[in-house]
Amino acid sequence: MQHTDTIIKNGYIVTINPEMDIIENGALAIDNGKILAIGTTEEIEKNYSSNKVIDASTKIVMPGFINGHTHIAMTYLRGYADDLLLHSWLQDYIWPAEARFVKAKFVYDASYHACAELIKNGITMINDMYFYSKETARAATKAGMRAILGEGILDFPMAFHKTPESMINYAIEGHEEFKDNELIDFAITPHSIYTCSKKILITAAEKARAYNMLIHTHLSETKKEVDDCLEQHGVRPVQYLDSIGFLGKDVSLAHGVWIDNDEQKLLAEKGVGVNICTECNLKLSSGFAPIKGYKENGVIISLATDGVASNNNLSILDEMDMTSKVHKAINNDPTFLNAEEVVRMVTIDAAKIFNKEDKIGSLEVGKKADIILLERNKLENMPMYNVYSHLVYTMHSESVQDVIINGKVLMQDRKLVEIDEDELFDKARFYQKELQEAKSD
Ligand SMILES: [Zn+2]
Repeated sequence: MQHTDTIIKNGYIVTINPEMDIIENGALAIDNGKILAIGTTEEIEKNYSSNKVIDASTKIVMPGFINGHTHIAMTYLRGYADDLLLHSWLQDYIWPAEARFVKAKFVYDASYHACAELIKNGITMINDMYFYSKETARAATKAGMRAILGEGILDFPMAFHKTPESMINYAIEGHEEFKDNELIDFAITPHSIYTCSKKILITAAEKARAYNMLIHTHLSETKKEVDDCLEQHGVRPVQYLDSIGFLGKDVSLAHGVWIDNDEQKLLAEKGVGVNICTECNLKLSSGFAPIKGYKENGVIISLATDGVASNNNLSILDEMDMTSKVHKAINNDPTFLNAEEVVRMVTIDAAKIFNKEDKIGSLEVGKKADIILLERNKLENMPMYNVYSHLVYTMHSESVQDVIINGKVLMQDRKLVEIDEDELFDKARFYQKELQEAKSD
């Protein structure tokens, strides 16, 4: 009998392994942050013991959701300005507020709040881009959240960084500083092709490869971005990035709404993944990502919420439901994007986009213990015939009961184990007052 850190037993285990095995009355033994064993409750109880046993009798047990594109430090800008054209939303509201308020402490506080919120949404990893990203790294570490973080690179001076080179160097410093932190990776994150010069995009990609860091950028969110690229460079955005050696298996794109068939083929060939932000694209009327084309051409895709200033929540379950329904409708095909595919998108496929499929994205022996439990015993969740259908069309984040990241239990019975929610409410009220006053200035 081997003693382990934690055992989860009696659960309905959705493994997302290559065979898509489901284990009814299943159990997991977790040790040292990893999955040590998985099987039936009887098998696990025979071989393993623990002082911490979680009874999952009424619960679905599955890998945590991955949110492929966020700006978590924008928490306090949730609902600050809505129902506007993208241009006016950014120029008249978001950028002025950011210029005035975004400082190290603001980023830390907002990121910590967002980590608590991510946990409540069953999200166990994010791919984030913002400013003062080392503050987000500290907040995520304190909260126990797994995160890939980047310092937004813009080709104009900011309060904090005078040059884009300083933004790149900051991320490299983060990479070095958090090297031994199991939860944190730093990436190189040029904001977009329209805010970065060709020279900076090339430098960013070269530096990322020199330091073995991932690359993350926004691409083809709006039609205007594509039209401007055609006018300035004579080619579409994906071809432009390819022509400067930017694309590779280490690159992930956010949005990818206006990508044509030739560009899709190129992304598949280069191994570039796309994180689709359906709700944000709907709200800002940016368009519909070509999911059908991505699938036909073999591009790996996943889902993301983007920041709460534009979404305005961090629910991946909402993105799953909305994406599946919207794309059935626009393809006039109710068989398109079935529930099982959608669940794979936000778990193992997302892990592949970030080259982490050997560590996360499924429940298999040796992988990190990033695990969520969802409650079946609720009126709105009864009965259950197909677990994937339930996850995509029935359940909301309120059904997420327990969250474990890197083997650590962060939420139990929907209560955050270490984070005090009342403290977060007080902080949010404080920043709301400050931002409200600035808005009326
Ligand atoms: Zn974004």
